[in-house]
Amino acid sequence: MDFDYTPEEQAFREEVRSFLKDNLPPKGERPKDFLKTWLEQVREKGWVGFSWPKEFGGSDGGLIEQTILREEMALAKAPPLGTSFMGLAWVGPGIMQYGTEAQKQKFIPDILDSKVTWCTGYSEPNHGSDLAAIQCKAVKDGDHYVVNGQKIWTTGAPWSQWIILLVRTDFEVESKHDGITCLLVPMDSEGLEVRPIENMAGDKHFAEIFFTDVRVPIDNRLGDEGEGWNVTVSALANERSSIGEVTQMFEKLDNLKELVRSTRKQGKPASEDPDVRRTIARFEMKIAAMKYNGLRYLTKQIKGEPLTSETSVNKLHRASLEIEMDDFAVALNGEAGLQLSGGEAAIDGGTWSKSALNWPNVVIGGGTPNIQKNIIAERILGQPKD
Ligand SMILES: Cc1cc2nc3c(=O)[nH]c(=O)nc-3n(C[C@H](O)[C@H](O)[C@H](O)COP(=O)(O)OP(=O)(O)OC[C@H]3O[C@@H](n4cnc5c(N)ncnc54)[C@H](O)[C@@H]3O)c2cc1C
Repeated sequence: MDFDYTPEEQAFREEVRSFLKDNLPPKGERPKDFLKTWLEQVREKGWVGFSWPKEFGGSDGGLIEQTILREEMALAKAPPLGTSFMGLAWVGPGIMQYGTEAQKQKFIPDILDSKVTWCTGYSEPNHGSDLAAIQCKAVKDGDHYVVNGQKIWTTGAPWSQWIILLVRTDFEVESKHDGITCLLVPMDSEGLEVRPIENMAGDKHFAEIFFTDVRVPIDNRLGDEGEGWNVTVSALANERSSIGEVTQMFEKLDNLKELVRSTRKQGKPASEDPDVRRTIARFEMKIAAMKYNGLRYLTKQIKGEPLTSETSVNKLHRASLEIEMDDFAVALNGEAGLQLSGGEAAIDGGTWSKSALNWPNVVIGGGTPNIQKNIIAERILGQPKD
């Protein structure tokens, strides 16, 4: 592991910092239409799809610079670099790798210009961890596929315009990983019904989706028929170092430090209490360990060394750490800590209690801890298969 940045990398960090200083007002002082301006500005800088090839509208940015960009954005509590997290994280990379020329021209610019939001239709009521067993069915009819079946837990479905959808096109297969096909489907297709699901925190971020004779043009297939599993796995593997898991924790730690400074415990700021200080230090050390772990994987990636499933290590750490931090923040404020926004004594607008109730986002979404542990045991530690 090399801890030093090159002069060019250091200069890039300074460029990001100075942009943020000039263009990012503090969180509570951002005007209503700030996001629109921000998205245009970061697009103009070439920071949306930073590592994407120039021919697709990206900046061909290096992995280290990308890490620096994320780190500085997180430290400055900046808004995201685009409206479609999934579009940027895996739909776009999947289209660049497997898409036809027409698909690339149709979809990539809109993702980069924040004109569209994508959601991901993988999980089904009985097939989440065991994703390859999906049953949502697509049958060819002329130049269309006709889709019937159900998806569930689809984040962003209530407001997305497009869904990247996994369907089964062949049921007579030896391995369940075969016979799966990936389709790009407009959310306003006839026969596609979105039923939002309310989570514990009262949000309706995800939904069930029902497909009844939904006709999808064959031109909207991503990759070959039956190749959907490979399309999905390689698109998801786009960023393997897992450093992104860590940068998102910087903001949370910073907010927690502010909270302990402003909370009073036994007549003094909680930040002076030895137990509180020890807890914060423990969180900070864990985040630092995650960061260096991520940098270790990043170094391997830059050297062209194979990475298997290292992402799972930081994902597992992050899951437990987020829960611990939220629970700590809520407990620190007693009854007030439990109040959601609108509550008379809500702390920080109820964000900590909301975050505590939202623990499944980081724990279950993207693969449960049991699954991550299985992956680490089998693929990294070489243990026998579960
Ligand atoms: C907030 C949130 C957002 C989500 N967003 C999306 C989305 O946008 N798109 C999408 O397609 N899906 C999404 N999901 C679904 C998510 O991917 C699945 O919930 C997850 O993969 C688990 O699948 P499951 O719910 O079917 O649980 P199951 O797979 O039934 O698991 C139930 C329990 O059994 C355990 N288990 C299962 N198999 C094994 C095994 N082999 N070994 C040991 N233990 C095992 C699990 O760890 C878990 O504790 C989201 C989920 C959440 C909570």
